[in-house]
Amino acid sequence: MSSQKYMDLENAFGAMNYNPLPVVLERGKGVWVWDSEGNKYMDMLSSYSALNQGHTHPKIIQALTEQAQKLTLTSRAFYNNRLGAFLEKLCTTVGMEKALPMNSGAEGVETALKCARRWGYMKKGIPENKAEIIVCNNNFHGRTISIISFSTEADYKKGFGPFTPGFVTIPFNDASALEKAITKNTAAFLVEPIQGEAGVYVPDEGYLKKAYDMCKKNNVLFIADEIQTGFGRTGKLFACQHENIQPDMFIFGKALGGGVFPVSAIVTSAEVASVFTPGSHGSTFGGNPLAAAIGLTAIEIILEEKLVENSYEMGAMLMKKLKTLKNPHIKEVRGKGLLIGLELKTHNKTARQYCEDLQKENILCKETHESIIRFAPPLVINKDEVSWAFERIQKVIG
Ligand SMILES: *Cc1c(COP(=O)(O)O)cnc(C)c1O
Repeated sequence: MSSQKYMDLENAFGAMNYNPLPVVLERGKGVWVWDSEGNKYMDMLSSYSALNQGHTHPKIIQALTEQAQKLTLTSRAFYNNRLGAFLEKLCTTVGMEKALPMNSGAEGVETALKCARRWGYMKKGIPENKAEIIVCNNNFHGRTISIISFSTEADYKKGFGPFTPGFVTIPFNDASALEKAITKNTAAFLVEPIQGEAGVYVPDEGYLKKAYDMCKKNNVLFIADEIQTGFGRTGKLFACQHENIQPDMFIFGKALGGGVFPVSAIVTSAEVASVFTPGSHGSTFGGNPLAAAIGLTAIEIILEEKLVENSYEMGAMLMKKLKTLKNPHIKEVRGKGLLIGLELKTHNKTARQYCEDLQKENILCKETHESIIRFAPPLVINKDEVSWAFERIQKVIG
């Protein structure tokens, strides 16, 4: 079947909640993907950083197929022989004591919010139903009703009310705003160390540390949503390490599933995790043996293949090249590691139009908002591939 037929079929029967580039992918390997006509493209989106290990990594596919033939789902009504090792690897890699596995990123965030509220009542002594969670302008934490309740993006919210109360919004990258917003009822501060979906906004150096210290001083949980920035994306294993802070809780997703399976988790201290008791939270698929086998392997690959170091080096190389672009409509190139945003002054050509032109040069990336192009290839990218990509980017953007 031709690409056009596949697109027609998807459009005929699918709800139109996305606006994909007109390319139909059929196969992937490492940083490369192929369409239905056999054309080869470089994937510079990595499914929003879910493909840090590259497409169809052989070890992940092996873990998937081996486990799939043995046992895939037990529910948490029973133990399974894969979950413990995955949780251990996750906790030791992160330097934490306890993890709670879920599936999608949004479920991980919901878990973090529930955990923070319960901690607020059970450990901090916040009066019932008074817990507040502080979040930032332009945040992206997922798409559930509660999560969009504290989004500041009109597109994400319109027509979906009534919204969940209990959230306080402050500007990102403003530690004094956090200080002012904290009350005796504040349970947690939820933040992305770099705002990915908003357009790759990197806060000033020192911001996360200041915010963390403020949380410590006031007995507020510092929760880092590293669903997009985690596992090497920004040139450190976790983006919080750029400022040497260890949050009270991490939320992971995306790359934790190695690009093949939805795997998310919160990772925290034993004290914080202890607020969950049997029956208080759950997920039928969360922590299933297939996800656990894949998640364990996904972490091993990041560490064994030194993808964090590669992200740092290849990111620096790509950033340096992008900064040489002469197009007067470029407002800024920013990011860390292999999470790079190129912001345009919008009056010329939209980011979408550039992405369509890049597609014609066999580079797949996606705009975020009107004016920002995100470059986030799999972390397995090598020097030659960075150069190959830049030649084409230069041809299109100039
Ligand atoms: C993608 C993302 C989420 C949501 O993950 P889903 O798997 O799409 O639910 C949450 N937070 C951040 C920072 C993300 O980038």
